[in-house]
Amino acid sequence: MRPLWRGVDMSNGELQTQEDAIRKIVHVDMDAFYASVEQRDNPDLRGRPVVVAWHGPRSVVCAASYEARKFGIRSAMPALRAARLCSHAVFIPPDFTRYKAVSLAVREIFSRHTDLIEPLSLDEAYLDVTENKTGLPTATRVAIKIREEIRQELNLTASAGVAPNKFLAKIASDWKKPDGLFVIQPHQIHSFLSDLSIGRIPGVGKVTEQHMLDAGIKTVGDVQAMDAETLETRFGRYGLRLYELSRGIDHSPVVPNRMRKSLSAEDTFPEDIPLRETESSIRRLAEKVWAASRENARGARTVVLKLKTKEFNSLTRSLTPPEMPGSAEGLAAVALSLFDRVELGANQLFRLVGVGLSNFQSSEEPPLFSCGDEASDGEGLANLPVS
Ligand SMILES: [Mg+2]
Repeated sequence: MRPLWRGVDMSNGELQTQEDAIRKIVHVDMDAFYASVEQRDNPDLRGRPVVVAWHGPRSVVCAASYEARKFGIRSAMPALRAARLCSHAVFIPPDFTRYKAVSLAVREIFSRHTDLIEPLSLDEAYLDVTENKTGLPTATRVAIKIREEIRQELNLTASAGVAPNKFLAKIASDWKKPDGLFVIQPHQIHSFLSDLSIGRIPGVGKVTEQHMLDAGIKTVGDVQAMDAETLETRFGRYGLRLYELSRGIDHSPVVPNRMRKSLSAEDTFPEDIPLRETESSIRRLAEKVWAASRENARGARTVVLKLKTKEFNSLTRSLTPPEMPGSAEGLAAVALSLFDRVELGANQLFRLVGVGLSNFQSSEEPPLFSCGDEASDGEGLANLPVS
């Protein structure tokens, strides 16, 4: 009899390899990373609501301490709104050089346990510990040890999720946050997922979630009850992904040293809007991407505009100008110029827009800076799937 967790339903004909069957993945996510580093390094900030954000009327929150989160402040929220929510919050401009140094120290700890490390940003990474370097008997023990080392050596806390694949490990790391550990054993996958609210699935942001709630889909269990065809009809290609994820199927391997080929940000609109009305969003996103890429912007050669139609069809348009823009405004202007190449008619409505930089020339450490992308709608997360 095959192990339960191999997926409740293999009717799509896809068989997992033996290698998949024994995978042990840990997802480690530092708690309120940038804000925690600030609080660690400045005792005056401890216990206080700290918001890491640049100054400026259109700036967004890069990180919020747990004290600040009590006031409803979240990553990616406009900084002005954060200031309204908590008038005594301490605003600190981000210092990515320092965060990056701490991030490398965290990664050094990971590397004692495995070489299969896939960083997602400065503050989170997937680790494949199917075989680990220290001889610890289980993935859970590895996760416990890593959290201990981070706490003892760096005076910071991290949350970790342990599961047989990346998708589940990421959900698990969020489960007991902050400073928590959660393990999903193979035999627990189906029941764990069936009670999970649909908004917990990566890629299902607020807007998609509402769309699904309207369709009567509240939990992953509700998705489990649907067949692939229905899901595809309703949600396009993402529907097929949903079909698999709802059954705990995720074959994606941990890819170490992945080169960041793109950097981007995206917005999902509260309601679908025509292309011409996306302009203010594009300007804001361009500013965000520009800020996040400030050390590497010159290395990018291509500007990308991503759109998702009301019907969930994704399209990207890109341009590699002879000279890269030298400012956020310039980046926005290039992105806006790509409107001409969206040939869908003035009546087409869009649910999402994204602006990105790609085709980075530098072969050095990729830009892993992110500013609030954890709170984005998540479809594609912070990075556009541009090649
Ligand atoms: Mg984090």
